[in-house]
Amino acid sequence: ALKAGIVGLPNVGKSTLFNAITQAGAESANYPFCTIDPNVGVVEVPDERLQKLAEIVTPNRIVPTAFEFVDIAGLVKGASKGEGLGNKFLAHIREVDAIVHVVRCFQDENITHVSGKVDPLSDIETINLELILADVETVEKRLERSRKNLKGGDKKVALEVEMLERIKEALYNDQPARSVELTDEERLMVRDFHLITMKPVLYAANVSEGEAANADGNPYVQIVREFGAKEGAEVVPISAKVESEIAELEGEDKAMFLEELGLSESGLDRLIRGAYKLLGLYTYFTAGVQEVRAWTIRKGMKAPQAAGVIHSDFERGFIRAEVVGYEDLTVNGSMNAAKEKGLLRLEGKEYVVQDGDVMHFRFNV
Ligand code: GDP
Repeated sequence: ALKAGIVGLPNVGKSTLFNAITQAGAESANYPFCTIDPNVGVVEVPDERLQKLAEIVTPNRIVPTAFEFVDIAGLVKGASKGEGLGNKFLAHIREVDAIVHVVRCFQDENITHVSGKVDPLSDIETINLELILADVETVEKRLERSRKNLKGGDKKVALEVEMLERIKEALYNDQPARSVELTDEERLMVRDFHLITMKPVLYAANVSEGEAANADGNPYVQIVREFGAKEGAEVVPISAKVESEIAELEGEDKAMFLEELGLSESGLDRLIRGAYKLLGLYTYFTAGVQEVRAWTIRKGMKAPQAAGVIHSDFERGFIRAEVVGYEDLTVNGSMNAAKEKGLLRLEGKEYVVQDGDVMHFRFNV
């Protein structure tokens, strides 16, 4: 599954948010306690289309797709220099697909702020600088090695050195590696270095309970939004405190509580959708009598790769896929009706899977 790592300064509400995530995961029927790692929380990706498909197929069960959040607590000033447990945490961040950066936007005199006052921009810069410094170290080490190999006259090494120089320059200017324009070839090369600032970032602006329904009235949230807009990062205002209360409820109770708060959906659901958008993710479905199920893929994945998300055998032995678009199926009300209209297609290896595709794979074992 794809993972987002939660980072932020101490006392900004990371643990509160992460606990809400694990609680919500534990409440869900399909992924109860499915990880033993206390730092990983698995949540279901909410998707109304699953219900609609279930009405058509009447399966034994519905299985939503899942998304993982990893708690990367302990990232503090000086982490990149290996102070405290910093290094270990940086190693954890390298493994995630995206970063959720929690920023404190709530005022509370009783809760100390590490730098003395609520100041989201300075908080963001502090954390970002640590991540940049960690990448500087990685890039410099790699540059040193690649320069030695330059003598061999390998074109690829020359390209790598040139690219690393550009990234280093950006990092020295306090800019993340993702701000550097790269060709597709360079993008493939840079992946091996696991640079932290290459990962997409979502800022979770943590507001107080009272502001949950009108977070944008909070001036700090506006500051984070402006910063996010400049960086091209997603911003999701959220009240970690409220989320921890919502996470304890289910079904009707949850709906009623959300209504009382004046919210149309939980912040956690918005966070998941934000992460989906950030990572360029799509959902496709399988719909049989056993189960109607959602699967997560990256935009642009071809049919065999998408099949591989279910099982590697499906990818290896892929022959073709029967595909019907979600709209085509639901508008017509049944698989047969869609088929009669010629909306059920046979697609091969080169087919690029679309969001909402309902797929049935044929494969050799
Ligand atoms: P972490 O150090 O970033 O993991 O922060 P915590 O989640 O432990 O939160 C630090 C303190 O801030 C705890 O006492 C939380 O209860 C409190 N806190 C978190 N979010 C809010 C909030 O929205 N409003 C208020 N008043 N307190 C909060």
